[in-house]
Amino acid sequence: MGLDWTASSIAAAVHDGRCAPLALCDHVDARIDRVEPDIGAFLERCADHARDSARGVDQRVPGERPTLAGVPIALKDNICTTFAKTTCASRILADYRSPYDATVVDRLLRAGALIVGKTNLDEFAMGSSNENSGFHPTRNPWRPDCVPGGSSGGSVAAVASGMVPVALGSDTGGSIRLPAAFCGVVGLKPSYGRVSRYGLVAYGSSLDQIGPIARDVTDVAMVLQVIAGRDERDATSVDEPVPDYRRALEDAALAGCAKTLRIGLPRAYFGDGLHPEVRAAIEAAVEVYRARGATVVEVDMPHAQHVVAVYYLIATAEASSNLARYDGVHYGHRTKSPQNLVDLYAQSRADGFGAEVKRRIMLGTFALSSGYYDAYYDKALRARRLVKDDFDRAFEQVDVLLGPTAPTPAFRFGEKTADPLQMYLADVYTISANLAGVPAISIPCGLSAEGLPIGLQLMGPLFSEERLLQVARLFEQETDWHQRRPPIWAGDGE
Ligand code: GLN
Repeated sequence: MGLDWTASSIAAAVHDGRCAPLALCDHVDARIDRVEPDIGAFLERCADHARDSARGVDQRVPGERPTLAGVPIALKDNICTTFAKTTCASRILADYRSPYDATVVDRLLRAGALIVGKTNLDEFAMGSSNENSGFHPTRNPWRPDCVPGGSSGGSVAAVASGMVPVALGSDTGGSIRLPAAFCGVVGLKPSYGRVSRYGLVAYGSSLDQIGPIARDVTDVAMVLQVIAGRDERDATSVDEPVPDYRRALEDAALAGCAKTLRIGLPRAYFGDGLHPEVRAAIEAAVEVYRARGATVVEVDMPHAQHVVAVYYLIATAEASSNLARYDGVHYGHRTKSPQNLVDLYAQSRADGFGAEVKRRIMLGTFALSSGYYDAYYDKALRARRLVKDDFDRAFEQVDVLLGPTAPTPAFRFGEKTADPLQMYLADVYTISANLAGVPAISIPCGLSAEGLPIGLQLMGPLFSEERLLQVARLFEQETDWHQRRPPIWAGDGE
C-alpha cells in the first residue's frame, strides 16, 4: 500500500486522502487470512464492523478526519464490545455478548479506528504465557514452539506478526509488558487511573489498567492520547490533564529530556535468576543512555523480593471476589439439569472455569477468609504500601527506573505449566509497577542467540507517561531493535 505499517503513517495517509479506509480493510483482512493460521492471535474477527467504521471515516472530508482515522486495531477479549462477543478466553463466557461498549472502545471508535477483532488471552487475564486460554494457544511470531507471553499474548502477537499496527491489552501484573518483551514490540501500562476501566472485565480491580501495544513508541503515544483521561463512569479514573504525548516526542523536547535525565538501576533487578543474555542486553541499553548524556545511579528497592508473594495474595483475593458473579445465573454458562440451587452454582463454575482460574479463586478465598485475613490479605496490603514507599524514595533521586522486563526471553510451550510458582516468577520485574500504581513501558532492546526478543522496562512516577515515552523514544533514536521483524512478518504490499 506504499505505507509503513504503523498507526502514524496510516492515519496520516487517511487524513490527507492518500489512502481509502475501505482499501485498508481489504489489506488487513488479507494479512490476517495469511498469518493467523500460524499464530492463533484472534478469538473473533469483526471485519464487517471495521468496514462500517471505514465507511464512516470515508464520509468525512480528508483534512477533517479524526486522529486514528482508518487505523486497524485489535482488542484483548476482556474489553467489552457490543458488536462482538467478550469471552475473556473462558468457557464460562463462551457466548457472552456485552450490552455496552467499554469507554476505551467508544473513544477509539470516535477517533476513527477500525476494530478488526478480539484477541486471545490467558483465561480472565490470569497467566504469563497464554497457555491458560480456554480456547486455543497463541504462538510467538518469532518461534512457533515458544509462548508469546501473557496474558495479552493475542494482542501482542497480532502486532508483532504484522496483522495490525496497534492493539489494546490489559495489565494487572505485567500482562502488556511481558508479552511485549517476548515478542519484540512496545507495550505500555499506564498509571492506575490514567485510562478508564469501564468495560474492562475485572480481574484485580486495584491493579488492572488498559494500555496500548504497538511497534514503536510514537504509535503507543497516539493510542494513549485517545484512550487516556477522566471518565465519569469509572470512579477510579483520575481528573489529571492529559498532555500532548506526540508533541512530547518532537526532537526539541527529546533533546531537553536527554540532557537532564537521571536513570536509576534497581539493584534487586540484576540479581540471581536473570538470564545472562538479558543482563547483557540491558547493560548495553544503559550504555546507550549514558552516551546520550544521562546520569545513571544504582538504587535500592528494599522490598523487591516480596512483590511476587504480595501480588499473588492481593490479585487472587480481588479475583475471588470479582469472579463470584459468574454463577450460572447472572452471566454465561449454566449447567444442564442441576439438582438444586447450590448445585447449579457449583456445577456451572466447575464446568466453566479452567484449572488456573479455580486455583486462584481458592487461593484468594483462603486469603480473605476469617482467621486468615489478618495473616495474609491484611499483611499483603501493608507490604504493598512498603513497595509504594520504595518507589517514592527512588523517584526522589531519579526520573525513571530501568531494568529488564522479564528474567528470560520467551520460553517453550509446556516448560512452566507443571509448576505454577515458576510461571508466577516470570512476573517478578513487572508486578511492582501495578502494586505501586505507576506507569511502566517495555521496549525491544535485543535478540537472544536463539533469535528471541529481549525487553527493556522503564518505570516512572505516577502520571509521568509523557516523560516515560520520551525516554523510550530516545532509545529508539539510537538503536534499531524496534525495526526488527520476525520471520513470519507479512510485509508484502507495504
Ligand atoms: N501473570 C500475572 C498473573 O497471572 C499478570 C497477569 C496480568 O497482568 N493480567 O496474574
